[in-house]
Amino acid sequence: TPATCFEYQRAESWTDAVELLRIWDGEAKILAGGQSLVPMLNLRLAFPGALIDVNSVPAGDPRVEDGSLVIDANTRHRVLTSSEIVRAHAPMLAHAVRFVGNARVRNRGTFGGSLAHADPTAEIGCVALALGAEFDVLGPEGPRTVAAEDFFITYLTTALGPGEVVTAARLPVGGDARWGFHEVVRRYSDFATVSVSVVARPGGAGGQPDLRVVLGGVADRPVLVDRELLEPALADPGSPDRARESAEAIAASLEPDTDLHATADYRRRLVAVHTRRLLQQALCEEGTA
Ligand code: FAD
Repeated sequence: TPATCFEYQRAESWTDAVELLRIWDGEAKILAGGQSLVPMLNLRLAFPGALIDVNSVPAGDPRVEDGSLVIDANTRHRVLTSSEIVRAHAPMLAHAVRFVGNARVRNRGTFGGSLAHADPTAEIGCVALALGAEFDVLGPEGPRTVAAEDFFITYLTTALGPGEVVTAARLPVGGDARWGFHEVVRRYSDFATVSVSVVARPGGAGGQPDLRVVLGGVADRPVLVDRELLEPALADPGSPDRARESAEAIAASLEPDTDLHATADYRRRLVAVHTRRLLQQALCEEGTA
């Protein structure tokens, strides 16, 4: 029978947290903002033997180091929307986090918690992937870095190994990037039915922009669109028809689920419309998409 109560332990550092995870040998869970874990406990979907509270592990302010924007795992969502540094160097992240839950959720929920929870519609994971982030991970074997491309495996499952935690993320600073983020949601504070993130940076192959498109809510993890599907839009960046061609090919390549919120066809339709608009804006029009 699953445990009906659990031990509570507090970690003062990520090293402490890793040591406690080792001691509990797969039976413990990290408690960060608790905005996903506590509902799962309430619904009896998680039965940890212990909760390792990392709320005392300090989070520095978001900062630029060695050409990357560094965001510590324990940074609350609210900080991402208000930090001048995040707004200057990753404006798409500051914008998209405003769509995470409501003010109460953003006051408690953490950047690292959202990444580790790996909901395929989570705004933070989608934007981190679109921006080409790397995640700092600490575990029993020491620190390592995981690219966002390799991090999200499937629903609520990441590349974190047993006893590993996310300690921070590094995002390429991109004041010169053009970007756009749209999400479709039925009610304020709900998870997105579908989201589209587009980033176009100068300096891609053959004088073209380096274009990254990420879709949320259409698969078991955030989907980074294959470059091949973006070729029509890149071949003629001024052409709305070519943007439409790419967007429709992207939508057709997907096999989203049908659920209570939307049918698979409706999700494909949302992807086609919103991707076309964002591609057009990122590649053709003046100003931010
Ligand atoms: P917790 O709930 O504490 O932990 C979540 C999971 O991650 C647990 O398994 C925990 O063990 C693990 N974990 C936490 N931190 C780490 C770490 N550093 N290393 C390794 N593992 C770790 N999210 C959205 O993206 N979009 C939404 O629209 C949205 N709406 C919401 C609406 C409501 C009403 C609520 C309650 C939540 C909503 N959320 C939404 C979820 C919210 O963003 C959570 O804050 C986030 O998913 C998890 O962050 P947390 O810090 O609360 O993590």
